[in-house]
Amino acid sequence: MGNFPCFDPEVFEASTKPVTYLKEAGVALITQPHTDLSGVKNFLEKFNKRYENYLLDPVVLSDADQLAKFAGQSCYFSFGEKRTWNEDASKYFENIKEQAHGSVVEHPTFSFFVWGIDRAVSLEIVRHRAGFGFSQASQRYIDDANLRFILNEEFDDNGPLFSNFVDGCAEALIRYGNVVDNLSVKYANAGMNKRDARKRINQSARRFLPNSTETFLTITANARGLRHFFEMRASQFADLPIQDLSLKMFNIVKQVAPIIFEDYVEKMQPDGVHAELTTRYRKV
Ligand SMILES: Cc1cc2nc3c(=O)[nH]c(=O)nc-3n(C[C@H](O)[C@H](O)[C@H](O)COP(=O)(O)OP(=O)(O)OC[C@H]3O[C@@H](n4cnc5c(N)ncnc54)[C@H](O)[C@@H]3O)c2cc1C
Repeated sequence: MGNFPCFDPEVFEASTKPVTYLKEAGVALITQPHTDLSGVKNFLEKFNKRYENYLLDPVVLSDADQLAKFAGQSCYFSFGEKRTWNEDASKYFENIKEQAHGSVVEHPTFSFFVWGIDRAVSLEIVRHRAGFGFSQASQRYIDDANLRFILNEEFDDNGPLFSNFVDGCAEALIRYGNVVDNLSVKYANAGMNKRDARKRINQSARRFLPNSTETFLTITANARGLRHFFEMRASQFADLPIQDLSLKMFNIVKQVAPIIFEDYVEKMQPDGVHAELTTRYRKV
């Protein structure tokens, strides 16, 4: 087992109905940059032997920060003694952000596996096009044996809204089951292979699943795309669960790319309950 950062939320079972639910997102970082500049040694040496000391910087940066810094410095051939050394990497990135030279932070790419989010939130996530890749669980292949739901924090009242949530999910599962039972009879002798029949059945049955049905996503994003995502979504104007998710993703990447994301400040929103991110350098 590795030790990439992750958030692993609790899974709950309703006591009154057979409904499994989560209250918050799970996020696991599954890929981050692995930077090795040794292959550039010959390139540097053949220009000038002293450029080789670019690779002997005594301050070691995170792989992600080093990758972006190298990419940026290669633009101006900043490999000599007068370059910004790693100990001043913060200053280097401040300048990059101030100039909105954001393409430099497109190099570090991170993949996350995300669960404990509902279909409504996933619709918002996949609107982010620039620098993002997504793979999402298919409700045509996943059946009711693996269905869980997401309890919105507003419904976590131990009272009528919680009952409403549990009853709605249980009812949806019953309707889903009715479709499966009926269509299973229809397709039993239709001459279709089992897998195609199952797909037909699930794709119809899912019409009865609510927005609060859980989904899973593998998300790959570069640091520039992530910065924009945090600015849009770890904000008081966004839907609460996507705020929670983006703050978790931020807290993960901050650990593995501390300088690229160091300008973000987590501060309390006017509601006094939720946090949001702010930065002086929006949309680099
Ligand atoms: C609070 C909130 C409320 C929202 N409400 C709604 C809503 O009611 N309905 C709705 O449909 N959406 C809504 N959205 C989604 C929003 O419109 C964006 O689709 C989403 O936030 C992704 O932002 P983006 O397009 O900037 O990101 P990305 O797609 O990641 O793009 C990043 C940047 O790249 C540039 N870019 C990307 N694609 C193009 C392009 N084709 N042409 C030119 N430039 C491009 C733009 O500068 C863009 O900002 C909402 C978002 C928020 C945060």
